[in-house]
Amino acid sequence: MDDELAISVRGLRKAYGDTTAVAGLDLDVRRGEVFALLGPNGAGKTTTVEILEGYRQRDAGEVTVLGSDPAAPGADWRSRVGIVLQGTGEFDELTVGEVVRHFAGFYADADDPEKVIERVGLAGKARARTHTLSGGQKRRLDVALGIVGRPDLLFLDEPTTGFDPEARREFWDLIRDLAAAGTTIVLTTHYLDEAEALADRVGVIAGGQLVEVAAPAQLGNRQEALPTVSWRTPEGAVESAQSATPTALVAELAARFGGEVPGLTVTRPTLEDIYLTMIGHR
Ligand code: ATP
Repeated sequence: MDDELAISVRGLRKAYGDTTAVAGLDLDVRRGEVFALLGPNGAGKTTTVEILEGYRQRDAGEVTVLGSDPAAPGADWRSRVGIVLQGTGEFDELTVGEVVRHFAGFYADADDPEKVIERVGLAGKARARTHTLSGGQKRRLDVALGIVGRPDLLFLDEPTTGFDPEARREFWDLIRDLAAAGTTIVLTTHYLDEAEALADRVGVIAGGQLVEVAAPAQLGNRQEALPTVSWRTPEGAVESAQSATPTALVAELAARFGGEVPGLTVTRPTLEDIYLTMIGHR
């Protein structure tokens, strides 16, 4: 396998009884990149990711993750892969500090637990029992447990569900720091703005296959999509037009209105618009 790749998947298949969850999926994730997997509920994201993590057996296909087959990994493989699952974050009567220190003990080269707690924004909660944490704080603890082993590759399953807007921004900064330090990151998300903010490339899974991979700005030929110019008429109605030459249209409107154009906006389709069109077409 290419050394530049952290993950290589060819022809991956997985069925549960009569339900085909993954139907011949191909995927490459480069070392050091942040890769976001998008797709509707039931598309096969979790199944794919769990196979990559070594937690689920595949029916067919070739899978290489950090140079090993996750179904039969080498000795130190598991310590090089960090995993943040959907919602654990609760450990009975243990405190945040105790849990993170306990997990650090599983790794030969763990990060400093106190530093990790601070990094995920839980410094003020290090002595709190985990069952007293809020939903967003529990997710931060999940992230702390995923990164305390200093993984080369980090999987994050819907990491910011339940975060308030400020916590999400802080979390994004953390992901950017980890990526800048060379960690490869694969995240699943239903938030298109999150994919856009973080991912070098986005992969869209639908019906158990990867239907498109592109940088967020290029997904679904987004750059070629026509912008929409809208404005308010003197009667107060909103009018809009798609135009390949929006500047000319705005100039024409400005001339028509003799200056300021009321309620003027010029927008291009968001990643969400493109994504919904892509999924809708299937
Ligand atoms: P979501 O966005 O809702 O998390 P997903 O893209 O992660 O969805 P998967 O969880 O991989 O999708 O599920 C893909 C398909 O496989 C679905 O039809 C699901 O019902 C089915 N499936 C997943 N896990 C199992 C299981 N353990 N047993 C039976 N069917 C399953």
